[in-house]
Amino acid sequence: MMRATQLVTTGDIRTVDVPIPEPASGEILIKVEASGICGTDRHLYKGEFPSVPGKILGHEFSGIVVDSGDTSIAEGTRVTCDPNTWCGTCDQCLRGRVNLCKNNIATGIHRDGGFAEYCAFPASKAVKLPTDLDPLHGAFCEPLACTLHGMDMGAAKAGEKVLIIGGGVIGLMAVQIAKRAGADVMLLTRSADKQTLGLNTGADHAVGNEESLREVWPDGADLVVECAGVGATVAMSPKLARTGGRVVILGVLPQGEQVPVEPFDLLFREIQMHFSFLNPFTHGRAAQMVADGTISVAPLISRTISLEEAAEAIASPPLKGEVRAIVVPNGG
Ligand code: NAP
Repeated sequence: MMRATQLVTTGDIRTVDVPIPEPASGEILIKVEASGICGTDRHLYKGEFPSVPGKILGHEFSGIVVDSGDTSIAEGTRVTCDPNTWCGTCDQCLRGRVNLCKNNIATGIHRDGGFAEYCAFPASKAVKLPTDLDPLHGAFCEPLACTLHGMDMGAAKAGEKVLIIGGGVIGLMAVQIAKRAGADVMLLTRSADKQTLGLNTGADHAVGNEESLREVWPDGADLVVECAGVGATVAMSPKLARTGGRVVILGVLPQGEQVPVEPFDLLFREIQMHFSFLNPFTHGRAAQMVADGTISVAPLISRTISLEEAAEAIASPPLKGEVRAIVVPNGG
């Protein structure tokens, strides 16, 4: 048996004893080293995101292969897990839009995930990490892969003004990607601590509101990347793009929430708006960037917790100033 944090049903999450899973054909068994608590886990708990009762949550995780099953991945390999298993046969998969797969099976939502001592996982979706990597860092590959997809869409050019809204994990990684692209980068986030973190991880400017932004960039940004997932910031994003500019929305709003936009303004200023979903073909690049330190993830770790603490942490809002809490299922 093992310990695992299970979403029994909406509003009921517990750390319980369950059998250690047996890897099916094509699967490996992973001893989980680190599993990040994402806002989506809290949405799943609250019923704001469709869930499957009884599943073990956790979709941002990495660990060590302890049973290769019938695959060729060697035991002892450290891997990061791309949680999205596309079907490969639906019309979206066949046109290469795999993140829009109608039959996607997301580990940690539709099948048991990484808030557990062990996880049986498809070998084809595991990406190798170096054995000397800090075990906690592997948990950042998944959010980085999603951020990379959005930043690919935004296609920041060297010298452009890039505004990142929201100083959470996604925003702070977007800051680093934009800086690596040679952009002039501003982070807009309310808390002073996260502004400081942004400046320390590559932002050239950090502000707490639109007025402060306008003092530095009166005409707005060439590219605005919304990473807060709040109606007010989604509504604000096109207004903060300069005429002829681009917007990428990465933040997730609750289903059904409406946001005011002014089509006249978008048309006459020809603002391009993009929406970025999941991590199509970006997990390998993310693993490489975490492995070689291109993206600095250590400053994004706010605390580590045990599986016994995970259920309460998911059922509660993040602590003040928290960027990422990492569950360490097998002890530190
Ligand atoms: P997070 O930890 O909640 O970070 C969002 C940050 O936005 C907060 O830390 C907050 O910092 C800031 N914020 C909130 N309201 C704001 C406002 N009015 N003005 C400026 N900043 C504001 O979330 P995350 O993990 O980084 O994820 C960001 C978003 O991306 C979420 O909506 C998440 O669901 C989404 N996401 C999308 C994908 C995808 O595939 N598209 C993948 C993963 C995550 P302050 O307190 O400093 O303001």
